[in-house]
Amino acid sequence: MEAQGKDELKELRDRLTVTQKLVWDQVDAATREAIQAYGERYKVFLDQAKTEREAVAVIEGLAKARGFVDLQSKTPGDKGYYNHKGKTIVLAIKGRRPLSEGVRIVAAHIDSPRLDLKQYPLYEDTDLAFFKTHYYGGIKKYQWLARPLALHGVVLKADGVRVEFKVGEDPGDPVFTVLDLLPHLARKAQMDKKVTEAFEGEKLNILVGSLPLGDPETKERFKLYLLKYLEDHYGIREEDLISAELEAVPAGPARDIGWDRSLVAGYGQDDRSCSYAALEAVLDTTEPEYTCLAMFYDKEETGSDGNTSAKCCLLEEVVELLLERQGESPQTRRRVLMNSRAISADVTGALDPDYPEVHEKRNAARLGYGVAFHKYGGSGGKYYTSDANAEYVAWIRRIFQEFGVVWQAGQLGKVDEGGGGTIAKYLAIHGMEIIDCGTPLLSMHSPFEVASKADLYMTFKAYQAFFNARG
Ligand code: MN
Ligand code: MN
Repeated sequence: MEAQGKDELKELRDRLTVTQKLVWDQVDAATREAIQAYGERYKVFLDQAKTEREAVAVIEGLAKARGFVDLQSKTPGDKGYYNHKGKTIVLAIKGRRPLSEGVRIVAAHIDSPRLDLKQYPLYEDTDLAFFKTHYYGGIKKYQWLARPLALHGVVLKADGVRVEFKVGEDPGDPVFTVLDLLPHLARKAQMDKKVTEAFEGEKLNILVGSLPLGDPETKERFKLYLLKYLEDHYGIREEDLISAELEAVPAGPARDIGWDRSLVAGYGQDDRSCSYAALEAVLDTTEPEYTCLAMFYDKEETGSDGNTSAKCCLLEEVVELLLERQGESPQTRRRVLMNSRAISADVTGALDPDYPEVHEKRNAARLGYGVAFHKYGGSGGKYYTSDANAEYVAWIRRIFQEFGVVWQAGQLGKVDEGGGGTIAKYLAIHGMEIIDCGTPLLSMHSPFEVASKADLYMTFKAYQAFFNARG
C-alpha cells in the first residue's frame, strides 16, 4: 500500500472503523430535554409499579385512557389489551397488512427480584414478631439486610374477598426490615465464610413488630398483637395469608443520581426500563404497517415457568383472537408467528469500572452509549440462548439508523464468566426472528439499580422505531 497523508488516514479511519457513540454527544438541546422529561415519567412508573400486579394495573389504566379496549370484549377496536390473570398483559395495535405477514412483538417482563412471604409467615421469637420469606429471583442476599422494605400484594379470603396491601411507601407509613448481625460478632457467623454461605435464605426474616397483647401469661402475645392488627385493619386472619401473594420490596421512590441528574436509581429497573419503553412506544404508535404487540410478562426472573410466564400459551391465544376478529382462520396462527419479528426487551449488565475483570471490554455494553442489543446471551458455548440471525441483526441496524436510535452491541460478561437468560428463547420456539435489546444497567438485580437517562430514552426510541418500521 502507498503512504497515506494524515487527512486521508483520518478519513479512512472514520469510514472503516466502528466506534460506539455516547448519546450525550449525539443529541441536540431539544432531545436532551426530551430525555429528562422521559426520565421523570419513567420514575413515576417505577414508583407506581413495583410488582407485576401493580404494573399490569398501571399499564391497563394508561392503555384504556388512550382508547385501548379489552380484546375479549364484543366490540374491540384497532387498539386492544389482554389482561391475563392480573399479572401479565398484552397491548395490541392493528396494522395495515394482514396478520399472515407477521406481527411485530416487543416482549418485556414486569416481575423483579424480591422477598415473597411464605404461606405461614407470621411467628415470634425473642419477643419480636417476624414474617418468614422465600426470596424470588436472583438476589445477592446480603443486599436485602438492614434496609427499609415495603410490603405489596394481595390477600384472597376463602369467600373471594380481595384485600390489597401497599405499606411502606408513603412517608407516614411504617416500613419493615431484615436484621443483620453486628460486625463485632460476625467473624465466624459471616466474615470467615464464602459470601454464598454467609447469608442464608432462612435468615431473611422480616421484622414486623414488638408490642405484646395481653399479659405475660398470654401465649404468643407478640404474634397475637399482629394478628389482631391485621384483623382490625384488613379483616384477615392467619389462614388468609395462605392464599396471598405478599412481596417485600425496597421501600421508597426512584431517585436521580448525581448533581447532573443524568442517571436514575431505583428498584425494579430490570425490567421496568424496557417495560416502560415498550409501553410508551406502543401507546405512541398509530396505524402501523404491521400489527404491533407489546407484551409484559411475569415470572421471567424465575425461569419463565408458570401460567403467567412467557412459556404459557398467551401469545398463541392473542394471535388466534386477532385472527378471528379479522375473519381469518385461527389455524394460520403458526404462519403468523413464523413470519413475525420480535424484540426480547430486557436489560443487560453494563461495564462496571470497579470490576473490569468480569467484562470483555470490546463487547461489553457501556452506560450512556444507548440501547444495547445482544445477538445472543446464555452461557459457555452459547447454550440456553436464542442466537439472532445475521440477516435480522442487519435489519435491526438499518431501522435504528433510519430512526436515529443511538445503539450499541453488547454481551453479558466474559466467555465462561457466568451468563444469563431472557425470554427470547421461549418466543424463538415459534420460529419468529428475535433479538435481545434493552437498557444497560449498573448494580443490576440489586435493590437500587442504576440506569442512564440517555439509554432509557434510546430504549424507547428503539422500540418506537421497531413498531413504526415500514419494511
Ligand atoms: Mn430481565
Ligand atoms: Mn433479571
